[in-house]
Amino acid sequence: MSAEPIASTEHFDVLIVGAGLSGVGAAHHLRTAFPDRTYAILEARDALGGTWDLFRYPGVRSDSDMQTLGYRFRPWTGVKSIADGPAILQYIQDTAADAGIDRHIRYGHRVTAASWSTEDALWTVTVEHDGETRQLTTNLLYVCSGYYHYDSGHRPAFPGIEQFGGTVVHPQQWPAELDYADKNVVVIGSGATAVTIVPAMAGQARHVTMLQRSPTYIAAIPGEDKLANRLRALLGDRLGYAVTRWKNVATTTAIYQLSRRRPRLMRSVLRKGAVKLLPPGYDVDRHFRPRYNPWDQRLCLAPDGDLFTAIRRGGTSVVTDEIAGFTETGIRLRSGTELPADVVVTATGLRLLAFGGIRLTVDDRPVQLPETMAYKGMMLSGVPNFVFTVGYTNASWTLKADLVSEYTVRLLRHLDEHGYDQCVPVNDRTDVAERPLLDFQAGYVQRSMHEFPRAGSRRPWRMGTSYPNDLLLLRHGRIDDGALRFRRKPAVHRAAAQVSSPGAPARQ
Ligand SMILES: Cc1cc2nc3c(=O)[nH]c(=O)nc-3n(C[C@H](O)[C@H](O)[C@H](O)COP(=O)(O)OP(=O)(O)OC[C@H]3O[C@@H](n4cnc5c(N)ncnc54)[C@H](O)[C@@H]3O)c2cc1C
Repeated sequence: MSAEPIASTEHFDVLIVGAGLSGVGAAHHLRTAFPDRTYAILEARDALGGTWDLFRYPGVRSDSDMQTLGYRFRPWTGVKSIADGPAILQYIQDTAADAGIDRHIRYGHRVTAASWSTEDALWTVTVEHDGETRQLTTNLLYVCSGYYHYDSGHRPAFPGIEQFGGTVVHPQQWPAELDYADKNVVVIGSGATAVTIVPAMAGQARHVTMLQRSPTYIAAIPGEDKLANRLRALLGDRLGYAVTRWKNVATTTAIYQLSRRRPRLMRSVLRKGAVKLLPPGYDVDRHFRPRYNPWDQRLCLAPDGDLFTAIRRGGTSVVTDEIAGFTETGIRLRSGTELPADVVVTATGLRLLAFGGIRLTVDDRPVQLPETMAYKGMMLSGVPNFVFTVGYTNASWTLKADLVSEYTVRLLRHLDEHGYDQCVPVNDRTDVAERPLLDFQAGYVQRSMHEFPRAGSRRPWRMGTSYPNDLLLLRHGRIDDGALRFRRKPAVHRAAAQVSSPGAPARQ
């Protein structure tokens, strides 16, 4: 893995922040479209893969299908459609290696600030590396930093936790040496992480309890998509993948739309699915009937019904109650019951973070994110030459990430064709009401949305939740739509730039 030294004057046509699924994908799109442009990926950690390298808990896997979580340009050839974390990491690593993208990654480079100068049409990006602060410049800042704090997850303050004699772990910092064989494990939470960890630990632990304050919708689906594998065998990797991708987009869109329009029907379908897989007489309504409607929060998947199977087999249970406090030997519940525990897993969520905590400044004025509005869910009002990736919450993240990259390529071509060097979204309409960037009821989203940019009620300020609509907007929609404003560099600067250009550094 490369760690080329950086000089303080280094300039890149594009700087990408983050070498996760999105950053590697963005680099792939850009280098394919513009092989001569310079770019680097600045990555705070010492490894690529982001989420898929960080999370190491038992059973870590996708909770959406790999034909849509995979890139549009690189077929997923694994047999399993709901894939394991290590397989997804390998896929990202292979994508980076095959295109030589890994040579452009600067590991251990945390971006702390970025300052835009309209006069120079340049971002100056401040980076911490090896205890030093360096600066780089770029024409386009492309932020693929994910959406949460990497250093630690969310853990509520549980009363008495300090007196607990067992081990407490958070899924985001899973100790490789944790031995839970023959131990009593309590997993606090009911989101995708808890639903993954519980059946994965069930094989080894003496007993695993999923302790939830309130239930979540869980749908059992096949871990392997037999039709996808048949299509691939029949049509080849590329075409088979493309057909399955559309099949899955259509299916997930239909399920989402049905959930929004006919919530009672979906509730009943999901309940019936759970009843079929749980032991006779199981209290389904207490443990698997949420208070909200399907897709108010992300729907969790149980590949091959693994969670339900674990409950049926014994050794795994679900408790729906509130925590009164920890004791020396376990957790005391509001109902008065005490759950004995040797290991407690706090699958209590993430701490959201916008743009990797980068402080943005435009012409010396700090950007207050909640005062900005997201344009097409990928740029910010009043912030020039800035693109970011935030994927879907109701479908695979990469569907949006790929579209953002495709749009960015179109945007750069548009700038080239017209001799522009700056573009900035401007919201001067009075008929656009503010909306939360992520209109999602999950607690971890609600806790932090006030720190994020806003979205708007009308196009192009709406945060799209439909891949087919976004596809039309981002792949085919007009670039010059009135909301995006363009600017040419003044002639005097163009002439000066030709003499001593910070934009003419060594090409990578
Ligand atoms: C456990 C888990 C499972 C998930 N499963 C799914 C799923 O099945 N389907 C789905 O669609 N989504 C899923 N998601 C959402 C998931 O995060 C995305 O699918 C996807 O991995 C995001 O990729 P990314 O590259 O945008 O962000 P990340 O994977 O978060 O990568 C961001 C990278 O940016 C780096 N970075 C951040 N800030 C800075 C900075 N200031 N300077 C330099 N580098 C920085 C980070 O170190 C990291 O490497 C899951 C999330 C989690 C946590």
